[in-house]
Amino acid sequence: MAARRGICRGGSRTAPAQLTMIIDEKVRKTLAELGVTDAAGLDALFAEVRAAMEQERSELISRGATSEAERDERCKDLRDRWLARKNGLLSMLDEHWLKASSKELKPTVGRSFNTLRQAAVTLEVDCLRREVQVTEVQYVKLAAELVPPPDLTLPGNRRPLGSLHPVTQVQREIEEIFLNLGFRIETGPEIESVYYNFDALNIPESHPSRDDWDTLYIDAKTVLRTHTSPVQIRAMEKYGAPLYIIIPGKCYRHDNPDASHTPMFHQIEGLAIDKDITFADLKGTLDFFAKKLFGEKIRTRFQPSFFPFTEPSGEVAISCIFCGGEGCRVCKESGWIEVMGCGMVHPLVLRNGGIDPEKYTGWAFGLGIDRYAMLKYDINDIQLFFQSDVRFLKQF
Ligand SMILES: [Zn+2]
Repeated sequence: MAARRGICRGGSRTAPAQLTMIIDEKVRKTLAELGVTDAAGLDALFAEVRAAMEQERSELISRGATSEAERDERCKDLRDRWLARKNGLLSMLDEHWLKASSKELKPTVGRSFNTLRQAAVTLEVDCLRREVQVTEVQYVKLAAELVPPPDLTLPGNRRPLGSLHPVTQVQREIEEIFLNLGFRIETGPEIESVYYNFDALNIPESHPSRDDWDTLYIDAKTVLRTHTSPVQIRAMEKYGAPLYIIIPGKCYRHDNPDASHTPMFHQIEGLAIDKDITFADLKGTLDFFAKKLFGEKIRTRFQPSFFPFTEPSGEVAISCIFCGGEGCRVCKESGWIEVMGCGMVHPLVLRNGGIDPEKYTGWAFGLGIDRYAMLKYDINDIQLFFQSDVRFLKQF
């Protein structure tokens, strides 16, 4: 029984299996029960048995095995099924067909049986072993069927190209305008001394305006710079006058983040120092700048203001870029948007930078790059710039 299960396991749904089942039944019956009474009937019957035997043998060979143990087991199963002394198909055939045959048929049955038995030698395990290949071909073949090979004609996986951050884009636009006017870019440390961040800019410790900057102190003498202005002093010390620079960079304040505040933000600051520099130069330059950045139709408005490091100081507003000055939600119906602070450099600041205020005068301005980017792209929450959300950033 074990032998039969071994063979039927793999092929009970195929036609040859049905054929072998028929053979299995036939060898259990006598020739008389099978209705075989003459030589022609015998030949057909033995041909059928031989065909079944060869079919099973070639099936095993073409199927192969994935290990030597599996091969040996399969060879033994097939050998036992046909050649086992007890209950082998040939033994049953011997018993039911040959021994039980009539005297007339016995010689013919005997010859056919001997021929069949000689043919069955190829079912011996040693003999089969040489034919059945042990390879992993079966698995390779299966794997090839399950996982189709890559289609080399398909387009590859495209890596999306990044783009410059909107704040960087606006910063570069602003830089470009001033570079074309003959300014150069200057940078300085973000961890700054209290001296450069406050004292040298005419903001002494006792001065109430120092409270205007919600400063992040590292220690009593060191801060995260609250504005890019300390670089003004550093540049004056380094280059002297005349001096035409813009100073872009990160600044830090102890602000709670909301739609218009982040603890880190970007400023750009301009400084022009030369002989005979007047407020008219400042107005002309900033008006030119605003028109370059926002369009020729933009008008500028200067209003008095106060900063410790400039005197006089002013706030610059541009005509609303959204409503053209008619009044809208963004400009709060005023028609104007405040965009920067400016003023003539305070003589004390020039002196702190090592420049003689009797010989030289200068102007300075400062603006928030993030706010410009918000205006330019109509973004209503500054925090979006720094949340690294690609869905937001990929729009620019
Ligand atoms: Zn408006």
